[in-house]
Amino acid sequence: MRDIDLLVTAGFLYPMSPGFPVWRDGEVAVAGNRIVHAGPRQPDGTWRAKRRLGGPGMAVLPGFVNCHTHTASIVFRGRTDDNTRGLGLYDVAFRMEKSIGREEWRDLSWAGAAEMIRSGFTTVNDLWYAPDLLAEACVATGLRATIANKIFDVRLERLSAEDYTHYPEIGEARLREGIDFAERWHGREDGRILARLGPHASDTCAPALHRTIRAEADRLRLGLHVHTAQSRREVEEIGRRHGRGPLELLRELGVLGPDTTIAHLTFATDADLDAVASSGAHYAHCPTMYPRRGRYPRFQAIVDRGIQTGFATDWMQNDPFETMRYAISALRLIAGDADVMPCREALARITIEAAKTMGLEHEIGSLEAGKKADLIVVDLDRPHLQPFYGDYAALVFYARADDVATSVVDGRIVYDQGRLALVDEAPIRAALARHVPIWHSRLVELGAGI
Ligand SMILES: [Zn+2]
Repeated sequence: MRDIDLLVTAGFLYPMSPGFPVWRDGEVAVAGNRIVHAGPRQPDGTWRAKRRLGGPGMAVLPGFVNCHTHTASIVFRGRTDDNTRGLGLYDVAFRMEKSIGREEWRDLSWAGAAEMIRSGFTTVNDLWYAPDLLAEACVATGLRATIANKIFDVRLERLSAEDYTHYPEIGEARLREGIDFAERWHGREDGRILARLGPHASDTCAPALHRTIRAEADRLRLGLHVHTAQSRREVEEIGRRHGRGPLELLRELGVLGPDTTIAHLTFATDADLDAVASSGAHYAHCPTMYPRRGRYPRFQAIVDRGIQTGFATDWMQNDPFETMRYAISALRLIAGDADVMPCREALARITIEAAKTMGLEHEIGSLEAGKKADLIVVDLDRPHLQPFYGDYAALVFYARADDVATSVVDGRIVYDQGRLALVDEAPIRAALARHVPIWHSRLVELGAGI
């Protein structure tokens, strides 16, 4: 009999391991923060577990991996999604985010981290402001995170007026803050908190700044995280300045590489996609954001080039099941083919493939002996999930974020029975509520909302 810390039993176990087996009556055994067994139930007497979770009415799967997100971005909810002439990012978000203070970033980070955990995400790849405050929120709540400070050298709030003046001192300060964060935090919590450098986008850093960021990332042995070909404006600006596409430019500047996660590619040309493929950079695809902006990236052209691709939420909409469903709906409609993006692939794209996109597939993304114990338990005893036969489609088409009953990160329970296990959420929600009137009036001043 082997002593273990946690035994998670499952009516249906979806380990997302090679071959994609689904085990009826499966189990995951955890010792410390590592999985020692994930597969069929072992005979009684195999384990002496300190704690048990799950049960026959539960599905167990790897924790979801969100390979491109802005955890604190809930502040914009409903204010950049609709009737913005496609410019919510420039006219609202870029202007509003510059007015957010430290205390607000802290409260948004804690609320965002809590929501990620509630939704079944156990890992985020974040690129935004106040990385130290988000890291503190992740330490406290138990979320796993790779975090990058957003680096740019333009006045983002001036982009809506098409003012692209570069200010080297802004770039230096943003880069310095990112490096300071990485030096203090990379590898903390037994590797649960990692850092990257985050050049915001192809058009919001001057070429010299892009080169410096790459040099610093290589010196510090950190990866990069960047938005690319996200908007028509970005592509037109890079075309005007450099006579090529944003990905072609980033490859020339050395930004792209196997350690780089790039988000979006919405307006990428064939030449851009070839640049990504030849560089070995990885792609974060954000299915819930593209339809609301009226343009879907050429997913098939991207994966056909062998570009490593995972799913992500980008911002505000953090239900992983919705993310999968948006992707399936869009891709099947675009192709006119009901067999495109099968549910098993959709689930893989937001677990093991998203982990690969972050370069973390050796540690997370599937339930296999030796990996970190990051998993979720989904309650199947809900009316909208019954009867449950165990198909991938039964989970992907019908489950919701709030069907997640329990989450485990690094072998530690971080969410159970509707409550975060490590922090009290009431003060987090109260803090958020105190800020709402201020955010509301600032957003109205910017012409967003009523
Ligand atoms: Zn983004």
